[in-house]
Amino acid sequence: MNPSDIEFDRRHIWHPYTSMTNPLPTYPVVSATGVELVLSDGRKLIDGMSSWWAAIHGYNHPALNDAAKSQIDKMSHVMFGGITHPPAVELCKQLVAITPDSLDCVFLADSGSVAVEVALKMALQYWQAKGKKRQRFLTLRHGYHGDTFGAMSVCDPDNSMHNLYKGYLPNHLFADAPQCQFDDEWQPEDIASFKQLLLQYHNEIAAVVLEPIVQGAGGMRIYHPEYLRQVRQLCDEYQILLITDEIATGFGRTGKLFACEHSQIEPDILCLGKALTGGYMTLSATLTTRHVAETISQGEAGCFMHGPTFMGNPLACAVASANLKLLSDSPWQQRIQSIETQLKAELLPLKSHNTVEGVRVLGAIGVVEMKQPIDVVSLQRHFVQHGVWIRPFGRLIYLMPPYIIQPEQLLRLTRAMTSSIN
Ligand SMILES: *Cc1c(COP(=O)(O)O)cnc(C)c1O
Repeated sequence: MNPSDIEFDRRHIWHPYTSMTNPLPTYPVVSATGVELVLSDGRKLIDGMSSWWAAIHGYNHPALNDAAKSQIDKMSHVMFGGITHPPAVELCKQLVAITPDSLDCVFLADSGSVAVEVALKMALQYWQAKGKKRQRFLTLRHGYHGDTFGAMSVCDPDNSMHNLYKGYLPNHLFADAPQCQFDDEWQPEDIASFKQLLLQYHNEIAAVVLEPIVQGAGGMRIYHPEYLRQVRQLCDEYQILLITDEIATGFGRTGKLFACEHSQIEPDILCLGKALTGGYMTLSATLTTRHVAETISQGEAGCFMHGPTFMGNPLACAVASANLKLLSDSPWQQRIQSIETQLKAELLPLKSHNTVEGVRVLGAIGVVEMKQPIDVVSLQRHFVQHGVWIRPFGRLIYLMPPYIIQPEQLLRLTRAMTSSIN
């Protein structure tokens, strides 16, 4: 890309969470294949981010390219109102088959945030259909569920946009974030704050919404499976719906196909996105039980009140189907197990460093939390100079590479992290 295009980008194009007056530098990428991003000057970077949890099989994958090409010659899109088509049916068959048994009914939407909006609306319509006024959500501090208004209202109230949008956002309930880490001994008091809020407000609560096991963008925190198990029990006890947001954790990332399997629980509503199309395009799904779906359908409206223009987009569904097939045909468990073993061996020693607050590894996720906020611009430059793509935020430097990464490529990523900390 020539310098004037980069300058145009700087002056005219928003990037995620980026100032228009003083934007952070952007790196021009012109192609990507396997686990490598290619910059316009020809440099290749090993990708440690999977483009935000999405590109699990790497880039430019022949099977996903084929799925897109063969679908585009049939039709890219057709409305979903009053019409169905093979790519949607094929994808939803697979989703119903691989998700927990009780989840039977699939709503296809455009993005992760919209999947969360859909889940929250399902919970609200469920209670409305039952003639009960339950309109609050109980969630966890340090959570992240997306950037649209409903999703934003259940994000961490301190490190998200609650102050900025005070007055617009409904007032939901926030339990203390779990402190007990994945491998720690379980501490029963970890669930106390959650239990207390449930006890006090259960008559007002429509659903609990949380990210199972791994809290992603709200802090990359990995918590104890017993926490989630007890959340499920408490929801059953008080007859409150449980929404699990597996937009980041779904499709193997944590070592299980879905993170709720670590706790052997099933949600009432499940949100999926990100890796659903293998990082090819935007698509999300919200699944629920037959009971929730039927209750909603017997309510005042007689239906669920949502229907995006690009619902069930055939092109996205075709790629997502091919992506799920690729995943189930691949030895993903072994791949993620070896990534986890290597991340543990190469990152856990950083714990002893005096600038490091903590190191956490689960599945194909490796997180180093620093004591001080990171200078993103200079660290990013360091990583690019070392031939890797890692995007730190806040006090966190983390890896979530494509599952197809080779040991020597992963070593380049962890070495770049180690050298930046040293
Ligand atoms: C990324 C993410 C979302 C939002 O998804 P978008 O596709 O960016 O709207 C919601 N929940 C979780 C857990 C996420 O990681």
